[in-house]
Amino acid sequence: MKLTILIVEDEPAIVDAMQYALEEEGFTINISATGGEVLALLERQDISLIILDIGLPDITGLELIKLIRPRFNVPIIFLTARSGEIDRVLGLELGGDDYVVKPFSPRELAARVKAILRRVGPSDHKGPPVAAAAQVIWRVDADRRQIFYHGVDLELSRYEYNILGVLLHNPGRVFTREHLMRLAWEEPDASMERTVDAHIKNIRAKLKTIDPDDEAIVTHRGVGYALHEHHGERS
Ligand code: CA
Repeated sequence: MKLTILIVEDEPAIVDAMQYALEEEGFTINISATGGEVLALLERQDISLIILDIGLPDITGLELIKLIRPRFNVPIIFLTARSGEIDRVLGLELGGDDYVVKPFSPRELAARVKAILRRVGPSDHKGPPVAAAAQVIWRVDADRRQIFYHGVDLELSRYEYNILGVLLHNPGRVFTREHLMRLAWEEPDASMERTVDAHIKNIRAKLKTIDPDDEAIVTHRGVGYALHEHHGERS
Protein backbone atom coordinates (compact mmCIF):
# COMPACT_ATOMS: atom_id res chain seq x y z
CA MET A 1 0.00 0.00 0.00
CA LYS A 2 1.40 3.37 -1.01
CA LEU A 3 1.20 6.07 1.62
CA THR A 4 0.19 9.57 0.61
CA ILE A 5 2.18 12.62 1.72
CA LEU A 6 0.59 16.05 1.42
CA ILE A 7 3.02 18.86 0.58
CA VAL A 8 1.67 22.34 1.41
CA GLU A 9 4.12 24.80 -0.15
CA ASP A 10 3.85 27.55 -2.75
CA GLU A 11 7.41 27.54 -4.12
CA PRO A 12 7.41 25.21 -7.15
CA ALA A 13 11.17 24.51 -7.12
CA ILE A 14 11.04 23.32 -3.50
CA VAL A 15 7.90 21.29 -4.18
CA ASP A 16 9.55 19.59 -7.16
CA ALA A 17 12.66 18.65 -5.17
CA MET A 18 10.61 17.20 -2.31
CA GLN A 19 8.25 15.39 -4.66
CA TYR A 20 11.14 13.73 -6.47
CA ALA A 21 12.86 12.57 -3.27
CA LEU A 22 9.65 11.26 -1.73
CA GLU A 23 8.45 9.49 -4.86
CA GLU A 24 11.85 7.77 -4.98
CA GLU A 25 10.99 6.38 -1.55
CA GLY A 26 7.69 5.03 -2.84
CA PHE A 27 5.27 7.64 -1.52
CA THR A 28 2.33 9.10 -3.39
CA ILE A 29 2.48 12.90 -3.37
CA ASN A 30 -0.39 15.32 -3.10
CA ILE A 31 0.38 19.03 -3.47
CA SER A 32 -1.40 22.14 -2.28
CA ALA A 33 0.06 25.61 -2.93
CA THR A 34 -2.24 27.22 -0.37
CA GLY A 35 -3.50 26.35 3.10
CA GLY A 36 -7.17 27.03 2.40
CA GLU A 37 -8.00 23.65 0.94
CA VAL A 38 -6.00 21.52 3.36
CA LEU A 39 -8.83 20.72 5.80
CA ALA A 40 -11.09 19.62 2.94
CA LEU A 41 -8.26 17.47 1.54
CA LEU A 42 -7.79 15.79 4.92
CA GLU A 43 -11.51 15.01 5.08
CA ARG A 44 -11.54 13.47 1.63
CA GLN A 45 -8.27 11.61 1.47
CA ASP A 46 -6.18 9.28 3.54
CA ILE A 47 -3.13 11.47 4.15
CA SER A 48 -0.34 9.81 6.17
CA LEU A 49 1.80 12.90 6.78
CA ILE A 50 1.83 16.62 5.96
CA ILE A 51 4.87 18.69 5.05
CA LEU A 52 3.70 22.17 5.92
CA ASP A 53 5.47 25.37 4.91
CA ILE A 54 5.12 28.14 7.47
CA GLY A 55 5.15 30.84 4.77
CA LEU A 56 2.02 30.30 2.67
CA PRO A 57 0.20 32.96 0.64
CA ASP A 58 -3.18 32.73 2.35
CA ILE A 59 -2.55 31.55 5.93
CA THR A 60 0.61 30.81 7.90
CA GLY A 61 1.48 27.21 8.62
CA LEU A 62 1.34 28.03 12.33
CA GLU A 63 -2.26 29.23 12.01
CA LEU A 64 -3.15 26.27 9.86
CA ILE A 65 -1.90 23.69 12.36
CA LYS A 66 -4.24 25.18 14.97
CA LEU A 67 -7.13 24.31 12.67
CA ILE A 68 -5.79 20.86 11.80
CA ARG A 69 -4.85 19.61 15.29
CA PRO A 70 -8.27 19.52 16.97
CA ARG A 71 -9.56 17.27 14.20
CA PHE A 72 -6.67 15.29 12.78
CA ASN A 73 -3.78 13.49 14.38
CA VAL A 74 -1.78 13.35 11.16
CA PRO A 75 1.98 13.88 11.67
CA ILE A 76 3.23 17.27 10.48
CA ILE A 77 6.72 18.39 9.49
CA PHE A 78 7.15 22.16 9.31
CA LEU A 79 9.25 23.87 6.67
CA THR A 80 10.66 27.19 7.77
CA ALA A 81 12.86 29.77 6.07
CA ARG A 82 14.16 31.08 9.39
CA SER A 83 16.49 29.12 11.59
CA GLY A 84 15.44 31.08 14.68
CA GLU A 85 14.47 29.25 17.80
CA ILE A 86 11.06 30.93 17.85
CA ASP A 87 9.77 29.07 14.83
CA ARG A 88 11.05 25.83 16.21
CA VAL A 89 9.49 26.19 19.63
CA LEU A 90 6.21 27.50 18.28
CA GLY A 91 5.98 24.76 15.72
CA LEU A 92 6.60 21.89 18.08
CA GLU A 93 4.47 23.32 20.88
CA LEU A 94 1.57 23.64 18.48
CA GLY A 95 1.78 19.96 17.68
CA GLY A 96 4.30 19.68 14.88
CA ASP A 97 6.28 16.42 14.85
CA ASP A 98 9.46 17.80 13.33
CA TYR A 99 10.75 20.77 11.36
CA VAL A 100 13.22 21.41 8.58
CA VAL A 101 14.99 24.71 7.89
CA LYS A 102 15.42 25.89 4.28
CA PRO A 103 17.58 25.24 2.39
CA PHE A 104 17.46 21.55 3.20
CA SER A 105 18.41 18.27 1.62
CA PRO A 106 15.34 16.55 0.11
CA ARG A 107 16.92 13.21 0.99
CA GLU A 108 17.23 14.19 4.62
CA LEU A 109 13.61 15.31 4.59
CA ALA A 110 12.58 11.95 3.12
CA ALA A 111 14.53 10.20 5.91
CA ARG A 112 12.67 12.23 8.54
CA VAL A 113 9.35 11.42 6.91
CA LYS A 114 10.15 7.72 7.09
CA ALA A 115 11.31 7.98 10.71
CA ILE A 116 8.07 9.65 11.77
CA LEU A 117 5.89 7.17 9.89
CA ARG A 118 7.77 4.26 11.47
CA ARG A 119 7.09 5.78 14.85
CA VAL A 120 3.37 6.44 14.48
CA GLY A 121 2.28 3.65 12.16
CA PRO A 122 0.93 4.13 8.67
CA SER A 123 -2.63 5.39 9.14
CA ASP A 124 -5.51 6.10 11.50
CA HIS A 125 -4.56 9.68 12.16
CA LYS A 126 -8.12 10.87 12.53
CA GLY A 127 -8.49 11.32 16.24
CA PRO A 128 -7.20 13.36 19.12
CA PRO A 129 -3.54 14.32 19.05
CA VAL A 130 -0.99 13.13 21.58
CA ALA A 131 -1.80 14.80 24.87
CA ALA A 132 0.76 17.55 25.32
CA ALA A 133 0.95 16.69 29.01
CA ALA A 134 1.90 13.11 28.16
CA GLN A 135 5.07 14.45 26.59
CA VAL A 136 6.21 15.44 30.06
CA ILE A 137 6.63 11.82 31.11
CA TRP A 138 7.14 10.22 27.70
CA ARG A 139 9.82 11.19 25.22
CA VAL A 140 10.30 9.55 21.86
CA ASP A 141 13.59 9.80 19.99
CA ALA A 142 12.53 8.54 16.59
CA ASP A 143 15.99 8.75 15.04
CA ARG A 144 17.45 6.43 17.66
CA ARG A 145 14.21 4.49 18.11
CA GLN A 146 14.30 5.09 21.85
CA ILE A 147 11.42 5.83 24.19
CA PHE A 148 12.14 7.47 27.53
CA TYR A 149 9.75 7.05 30.45
CA HIS A 150 10.24 9.57 33.26
CA GLY A 151 13.56 10.31 31.59
CA VAL A 152 14.76 6.70 31.56
CA ASP A 153 15.48 4.86 28.32
CA LEU A 154 13.21 1.79 28.20
CA GLU A 155 15.68 -0.08 25.95
CA LEU A 156 12.87 -1.53 23.88
CA SER A 157 13.16 -4.19 21.24
CA ARG A 158 12.10 -3.29 17.72
CA TYR A 159 8.53 -4.57 18.11
CA GLU A 160 8.14 -3.23 21.62
CA TYR A 161 9.14 0.18 20.28
CA ASN A 162 6.64 -0.03 17.43
CA ILE A 163 3.78 -1.12 19.69
CA LEU A 164 4.40 1.46 22.39
CA GLY A 165 4.87 4.15 19.72
CA VAL A 166 1.41 3.43 18.31
CA LEU A 167 -0.20 3.50 21.78
CA LEU A 168 1.56 6.73 22.73
CA HIS A 169 0.26 8.50 19.69
CA ASN A 170 -3.32 7.54 20.46
CA PRO A 171 -3.96 7.87 24.24
CA GLY A 172 -7.16 6.16 25.34
CA ARG A 173 -7.76 4.44 22.05
CA VAL A 174 -8.25 0.67 22.21
CA PHE A 175 -6.29 -1.36 19.67
CA THR A 176 -7.03 -4.98 18.89
CA ARG A 177 -4.06 -7.33 18.80
CA GLU A 178 -4.61 -7.74 15.08
CA HIS A 179 -4.57 -3.96 14.58
CA LEU A 180 -1.43 -3.50 16.67
CA MET A 181 0.22 -6.25 14.73
CA ARG A 182 -0.69 -4.66 11.41
CA LEU A 183 0.67 -1.28 12.56
CA ALA A 184 3.82 -2.56 14.23
CA TRP A 185 4.94 -5.38 11.96
CA GLU A 186 6.25 -4.87 8.50
CA GLU A 187 5.03 -8.32 7.46
CA PRO A 188 2.09 -9.26 9.63
CA ASP A 189 1.26 -12.90 10.09
CA ALA A 190 -1.79 -14.21 11.94
CA SER A 191 0.33 -16.66 13.93
CA MET A 192 2.16 -13.71 15.49
CA GLU A 193 -0.94 -12.25 17.11
CA ARG A 194 -0.26 -13.81 20.49
CA THR A 195 3.23 -12.45 20.52
CA VAL A 196 1.64 -9.01 20.98
CA ASP A 197 0.73 -10.20 24.49
CA ALA A 198 4.31 -11.17 25.12
CA HIS A 199 5.63 -7.82 23.91
CA ILE A 200 3.07 -5.91 26.00
CA LYS A 201 4.12 -7.96 29.01
CA ASN A 202 7.76 -7.02 28.42
CA ILE A 203 6.92 -3.33 27.97
CA ARG A 204 4.92 -3.36 31.24
CA ALA A 205 7.79 -5.01 33.08
CA LYS A 206 10.14 -2.29 31.85
CA LEU A 207 7.71 0.46 32.89
CA LYS A 208 7.35 -1.11 36.34
CA THR A 209 11.07 -1.11 36.95
CA ILE A 210 10.80 2.68 36.73
CA ASP A 211 7.43 3.10 38.44
CA PRO A 212 6.28 0.00 40.39
CA ASP A 213 2.67 1.26 40.45
CA ASP A 214 2.63 1.85 36.75
CA GLU A 215 -0.62 1.14 34.92
CA ALA A 216 0.03 3.07 31.73
CA ILE A 217 -1.17 0.29 29.44
CA VAL A 218 -4.72 -0.93 30.01
CA THR A 219 -5.92 -4.38 28.95
CA HIS A 220 -9.38 -4.45 27.38
CA ARG A 221 -10.39 -8.07 27.84
CA GLY A 222 -11.17 -9.89 24.65
CA VAL A 223 -10.32 -6.78 22.62
CA GLY A 224 -6.80 -5.48 23.01
CA TYR A 225 -4.76 -2.75 24.62
CA ALA A 226 -4.74 1.03 25.07
CA LEU A 227 -2.63 3.65 26.72
CA HIS A 228 -4.49 4.82 29.82
CA GLU A 229 -6.78 7.64 28.72
CA HIS A 230 -5.67 10.08 31.38
CA HIS A 231 -2.09 8.97 31.40
CA GLY A 232 0.25 11.87 31.42
CA GLU A 233 -2.15 14.31 33.07
CA ARG A 234 -0.63 15.83 36.11
CA SER A 235 -2.56 15.04 39.25
CA1 CA B 1 6.41 29.35 0.98
